[in-house]
Amino acid sequence: MNGAVREHRRVMEEHLGRKLLTNEIVHHVNGDRTDNQIENLVVMDRGAHSKKHFRLHEYRNRLKIENQELKAQLRMVKQNIRAMCNN
Ligand SMILES: [Zn+2]
Repeated sequence: MNGAVREHRRVMEEHLGRKLLTNEIVHHVNGDRTDNQIENLVVMDRGAHSKKHFRLHEYRNRLKIENQELKAQLRMVKQNIRAMCNN
């Protein structure tokens, strides 16, 4: 592990005034792992943390599919507009 990875743990330990336990994970609320401001950090136990990331992963996949569907619809709308303009 490099220094950057440990930084968020150091910030949280300073905030709590104690060492973190090995099963305590510091999660970045806004998803930006370089943002180690205390407002962006929250302590979670290991299990809750991996569950959260699994949900985020699923959510991102759903958004990807939705985005593809919307792009396909947009293409159709554009084609329809083009066809109407050519009449
Ligand atoms: Zn996390």
